[in-house]
Amino acid sequence: MAKTITVNNNNDNFKLGDPYFCHECGRTHQKGKIYQDHLKHAHNTDKINENIKENNDIIKLDDNEEEIDYKLLEESYDDNEVLEDDIDNEVLEDDIDNEVLEDDMESNANEKSLDKCIEQVKKLPGVGDATLRKLIKAGFTSLESIAFTPPSIIQEDSGLGEKSTATLVKASMKELNIGFKSAQDLWERRKNISRISTGSQELDNLFAGGLETGCVVEFFGEFRTGKTQIMHQLCVNVQLPREKGGLEGRALYIDTEGTFRPERIIQMAEALDLDYDKVLKNIIFGRAYNSDHQILLAKEAGNIIKEKNVKLIVVDSLIGHFRSEYIGRGTLATRQQTINQHLHDLLRLCDIHPDLAVVVTNQVQAKPDVFYGNPIQAAGGNVIAHGSTMRLSLRKGKGEQRVAKMIDAPHLPEGEAVFSITENGITD
Ligand code: ADP
Ligand code: MG
Repeated sequence: MAKTITVNNNNDNFKLGDPYFCHECGRTHQKGKIYQDHLKHAHNTDKINENIKENNDIIKLDDNEEEIDYKLLEESYDDNEVLEDDIDNEVLEDDIDNEVLEDDMESNANEKSLDKCIEQVKKLPGVGDATLRKLIKAGFTSLESIAFTPPSIIQEDSGLGEKSTATLVKASMKELNIGFKSAQDLWERRKNISRISTGSQELDNLFAGGLETGCVVEFFGEFRTGKTQIMHQLCVNVQLPREKGGLEGRALYIDTEGTFRPERIIQMAEALDLDYDKVLKNIIFGRAYNSDHQILLAKEAGNIIKEKNVKLIVVDSLIGHFRSEYIGRGTLATRQQTINQHLHDLLRLCDIHPDLAVVVTNQVQAKPDVFYGNPIQAAGGNVIAHGSTMRLSLRKGKGEQRVAKMIDAPHLPEGEAVFSITENGITD
């Protein structure tokens, strides 16, 4: 699909926005919009493929009906959870349309995929039972987690020696075939990147189709600009089926300001016709009481992403604690270094789990020395500016309206989107 793009209009007057016919997908695109158009096309093709796969799955399930029922029963006995609950879930709610993910069946699948990853780690040279135990305990349960983490951190967290750590990292990288690859390979991967809908079509368009996974996205703005509301909405939306803008996964929320409100989640879930009990259950919540605690929570998050099928991590806000704890010029360097490490912990999670979205909020500061232009800037300076993959600024509009502006993204133009915060959540 979409490998080379032939522009059938070679004259010099071919301007941005002019239409041309693309032989790759048999559609008319606009110059300057190639990426978005192809992305849409890729998404549609994906959906068709998914449908075909789903239908196949249904046929397979029907064939093995008896066996599966038996398995499910066994599971509910195994789990010490209330039996009634499981039966309810299986029988009664089977055909609810807007289904968010179910606990039991899915956690079993996650465990299996975790086992598979651990099995690969076990095969690395020099990994015996003791080493494996140390690695698992420190959260290094996949080749990716070993290959992408600086050896010094692996050493520190797992207690392994320098030499064995170096061997492990090298072997993991070799196993994962990490090295140079063609840009075309990269495009094949990016074309099918997963996205979470924000609830507002306009805001989704600003991201060329919804919040991207595999990177750290930062929302900054003054208070009341809707940062926390967007975080809440994403926690609900990530649980939706893929065809409805979700990723069928859980959210993990690190709240540093004490502003997470289950009441708000309930409102947003009900607006989408979802069972709010299930939606709440699928949000893993951690209140960070200081910056050390915040850093620790982010590190611990890494250990449960696979097992709990976490597809979204929220840190609201990234900088609050750091700002209040590190006071005075003398502490600035240490503060920036610590934020940098924290941000890189989060970025690494995205490398290890490409299907994970990480969203952080950031406060603003007024620059006293700016006389022309906007004196309001994102806090945290260059460290956060360089660390986050995409940054958006938020500002108030009329009434419930808010304006989001894409400030920096590696592949998207600067642009603005207007959305609203209503009782139902984020909408256009
Ligand atoms: P920030 O995190 O940027 O400081 P918030 O995300 O907390 O700001 O946004 C707060 C705003 O969200 C409020 O000023 C209000 O306009 C809106 N809001 C919050 N809850 C509701 C609700 N239940 N119904 C409608 N609007 C709400
Ligand atoms: Mg807030």
